Amino acid sequence: MKKTLFSLKRPMLILFFLIASSLLNQRLSAIAPPEMELNTGHVKQGGLLIVQINLEDLPFIAEQLTISFNDRHYPLRRNESGQYQTMIGISYWLKPGNQHLSLIQGEKIINTAQFEIIAGNFKNSYLYVEASLEKIIRPRDPQTEKRKKHESALIKKARGKSVPEKLWADNFSWPLAGKITTGFGATRYVNDQLQSRHSGIDIAAPTGTEITASNHGVVVLAADLLVTGKTIIIDHGYEVFSSYSHLNSLNVAVGDKIQKGQIIGRCGSTGFSTGPHLHWTITVGGVYVNPTDLISSF
Ligand SMILES: [Zn+2]
Repeated sequence: MKKTLFSLKRPMLILFFLIASSLLNQRLSAIAPPEMELNTGHVKQGGLLIVQINLEDLPFIAEQLTISFNDRHYPLRRNESGQYQTMIGISYWLKPGNQHLSLIQGEKIINTAQFEIIAGNFKNSYLYVEASLEKIIRPRDPQTEKRKKHESALIKKARGKSVPEKLWADNFSWPLAGKITTGFGATRYVNDQLQSRHSGIDIAAPTGTEITASNHGVVVLAADLLVTGKTIIIDHGYEVFSSYSHLNSLNVAVGDKIQKGQIIGRCGSTGFSTGPHLHWTITVGGVYVNPTDLISSF
């Protein structure tokens, strides 16, 4: 008797779920797909794109959604006001022109949004240095080459894992008051030979000037490195990191929890540097973005 009841119950249960899921699918298809709202329709090379999605009607699908851009998927994260957001760093290597984002549910594109990448109008920066300094960035011996590679890997590893929550609050702040000597994205030539783009902002200040954290976070690197000298990297959560290079002294250690405005070190000229200054960078999802975008975005 029990067995019969069971065998009767199971098909009914399956039928119930089939009806329920088809009703749910009908409801989903009746609702327009969520729209992506962008903080700007025209983002500069090296700029920050913030995408917001209103999921008031469909909060239960947030986990199934990602935003795809340039062959990469970005997860949605819920902010304090209950909105779902993602931040996309637009690399300074991407060419100006029209671009689009795709909103993906599972494997299916359910909506798209257009935006334009506009020219960063980056300046040229010419540095002339002595051979002893040049060989730091253009090693001529295997030991220096090996150390440079090892330290690049350390930096990459430090930014490889981020706290899965937002540690920062409100706008980022300038870590130091001083004169900007090289802007973000500048095309850098060293001894008339093309080097790279300038990944951050150089701020000149006297040796010993206090350097403060741009926002709350956790120290993931505090070390004396060949190229960037005494360097600090802070994880602000959600794959946002700030870095502070060429310091004279380090006041913090790996694992330290840092408050916005806290003194983390002092300005110097260590590593590949021609005078006391701070090289300040911010990366979002592994992409260098213009730090000034985080001073004005939140
Ligand atoms: Zn620099």
